[in-house]
Amino acid sequence: MGEKKCPHCGAWSKWNQDIQDSCEHCGGKLGGADLAFHEKRLAQEKANRENWIFYIKETDSGFVRAVKTVGNFFYTIYIAIITFLAWLIAVLPG
Ligand SMILES: [Zn+2]
Repeated sequence: MGEKKCPHCGAWSKWNQDIQDSCEHCGGKLGGADLAFHEKRLAQEKANRENWIFYIKETDSGFVRAVKTVGNFFYTIYIAIITFLAWLIAVLPG
Protein backbone atom coordinates (compact mmCIF):
# COMPACT_ATOMS: atom_id res chain seq x y z
CA MET A 1 0.00 0.00 0.00
CA GLY A 2 1.44 3.34 -1.02
CA GLU A 3 0.58 6.66 -2.52
CA LYS A 4 0.70 7.78 -6.09
CA LYS A 5 0.33 11.17 -7.66
CA CYS A 6 -2.74 11.21 -9.89
CA PRO A 7 -1.79 11.87 -13.51
CA HIS A 8 -5.16 13.60 -14.06
CA CYS A 9 -5.61 16.04 -11.16
CA GLY A 10 -2.15 15.99 -9.54
CA ALA A 11 -3.46 15.07 -6.05
CA TRP A 12 -1.86 12.27 -4.05
CA SER A 13 -4.02 9.19 -3.75
CA LYS A 14 -3.78 5.78 -2.05
CA TRP A 15 -3.01 2.91 -4.38
CA ASN A 16 -2.18 -0.78 -4.05
CA GLN A 17 0.36 -1.03 -6.90
CA ASP A 18 -2.59 -1.86 -9.13
CA ILE A 19 -2.71 0.06 -12.38
CA GLN A 20 -6.49 -0.30 -12.40
CA ASP A 21 -6.83 1.74 -9.17
CA SER A 22 -8.74 5.00 -9.41
CA CYS A 23 -7.93 8.42 -7.94
CA GLU A 24 -9.80 9.26 -4.72
CA HIS A 25 -10.22 12.86 -5.83
CA CYS A 26 -11.19 12.82 -9.51
CA GLY A 27 -11.88 9.11 -10.18
CA GLY A 28 -9.31 8.95 -12.96
CA LYS A 29 -7.10 5.88 -13.39
CA LEU A 30 -3.85 6.15 -11.45
CA GLY A 31 -2.01 3.92 -13.93
CA GLY A 32 -1.60 6.74 -16.45
CA ALA A 33 0.94 5.89 -19.17
CA ASP A 34 1.50 2.42 -17.68
CA LEU A 35 -2.19 1.64 -17.99
CA ALA A 36 -2.35 2.94 -21.56
CA PHE A 37 0.61 0.71 -22.45
CA HIS A 38 -0.92 -2.26 -20.62
CA GLU A 39 -4.23 -1.91 -22.47
CA LYS A 40 -2.50 -1.52 -25.81
CA ARG A 41 -0.56 -4.72 -25.20
CA LEU A 42 -3.71 -6.60 -24.18
CA ALA A 43 -5.48 -5.45 -27.35
CA GLN A 44 -2.50 -6.56 -29.42
CA GLU A 45 -2.40 -9.99 -27.78
CA LYS A 46 -6.13 -10.38 -28.37
CA ALA A 47 -5.76 -9.45 -32.04
CA ASN A 48 -2.93 -11.99 -32.43
CA ARG A 49 -5.01 -14.73 -30.85
CA GLU A 50 -8.04 -13.96 -32.99
CA ASN A 51 -5.95 -14.34 -36.12
CA TRP A 52 -5.43 -18.00 -35.28
CA ILE A 53 -8.11 -20.10 -37.03
CA PHE A 54 -8.97 -22.16 -33.98
CA TYR A 55 -9.21 -19.28 -31.57
CA ILE A 56 -12.30 -19.79 -29.39
CA LYS A 57 -14.30 -16.57 -29.28
CA GLU A 58 -16.68 -15.70 -26.48
CA THR A 59 -19.49 -15.50 -29.04
CA ASP A 60 -18.93 -19.03 -30.37
CA SER A 61 -21.66 -21.59 -29.77
CA GLY A 62 -21.02 -24.87 -27.91
CA PHE A 63 -20.66 -26.79 -31.18
CA VAL A 64 -18.14 -24.36 -32.66
CA ARG A 65 -16.17 -24.43 -29.40
CA ALA A 66 -16.04 -28.25 -29.51
CA VAL A 67 -14.90 -28.26 -33.16
CA LYS A 68 -12.19 -25.70 -32.42
CA THR A 69 -10.99 -27.60 -29.37
CA VAL A 70 -10.57 -30.74 -31.51
CA GLY A 71 -8.96 -28.55 -34.20
CA ASN A 72 -6.46 -27.24 -31.65
CA PHE A 73 -5.63 -30.79 -30.62
CA PHE A 74 -4.92 -32.00 -34.15
CA TYR A 75 -3.12 -28.80 -35.08
CA THR A 76 -0.74 -29.34 -32.15
CA ILE A 77 -0.08 -32.93 -33.30
CA TYR A 78 0.41 -31.73 -36.88
CA ILE A 79 3.00 -29.16 -35.78
CA ALA A 80 4.76 -31.83 -33.70
CA ILE A 81 4.96 -34.18 -36.73
CA ILE A 82 6.25 -31.39 -39.01
CA THR A 83 8.88 -30.50 -36.42
CA PHE A 84 9.89 -34.16 -36.15
CA LEU A 85 10.18 -34.53 -39.96
CA ALA A 86 12.26 -31.36 -40.18
CA TRP A 87 14.52 -32.75 -37.49
CA LEU A 88 14.73 -36.12 -39.30
CA ILE A 89 15.70 -34.49 -42.60
CA ALA A 90 18.36 -32.45 -40.81
CA VAL A 91 19.79 -35.50 -39.00
CA LEU A 92 19.72 -38.08 -41.83
CA PRO A 93 22.84 -38.01 -44.02
CA GLY A 94 22.46 -37.11 -47.69
ZN1 LIG B 1 -7.17 12.57 -9.63
